[in-house]
Amino acid sequence: MKIDEVAREVRACTLCANSLPRGPRPIIQVSATARLLIVGQAPGTRVHESGVPWNDASGTRLRDWLGLDEATFYDPARVAILPMGLCYPGVLPKGGDRPPMPICAPTWHPVLLPLMPNIELTLVIGTYAMARLLGKGAMADHVRHFRNHLPDRIPLPHPSWRTVGWERRNPWFGEKLLPVLRGRVGEVVTEGSKDCEARHAS
Ligand code: SF4
Repeated sequence: MKIDEVAREVRACTLCANSLPRGPRPIIQVSATARLLIVGQAPGTRVHESGVPWNDASGTRLRDWLGLDEATFYDPARVAILPMGLCYPGVLPKGGDRPPMPICAPTWHPVLLPLMPNIELTLVIGTYAMARLLGKGAMADHVRHFRNHLPDRIPLPHPSWRTVGWERRNPWFGEKLLPVLRGRVGEVVTEGSKDCEARHAS
């Protein structure tokens, strides 16, 4: 089955309809040619309302970390976005978003990922994505030892406002990780764009 057909099926998913306070609205960006994959946590309210992934302050911070403009970030031919939970999960009683729906990634990732064979780099963002893709370990340790996962994966903290203070307390993140991240993302996205141009020209 082609990825567009599967994406339509995913966007119509209602598996968690009884548990989602605002109802199902799966938000993904996928294509068979994408070379960069971003696996984050789950949409927040603003993303749920707009239907546009990372369309919030966290997304602005993430694009700044990656050194990508919006046009490139939202180009599905180059960048795929597939979080651990595809729908907004609601809030916890004490505040903060609920975890991604546990059924979501095991249901849809194994269906979609084989249809994106050109992925060269996966950004593993936040604790839920790290638990699935990198295994056991504290988020800060995964990020600090990011070189262990190169060249095909880079772990990152969730780029929310809470990370601003963490970044200040951990200057190595800006000094060591971000230059490597921007370099790898640039390589993968730029090479992908050259391939697309070559295909169009031939
Ligand atoms: S969270 Fe995932 S599994 Fe649940 S309804 Fe949304 S797309 Fe379907």
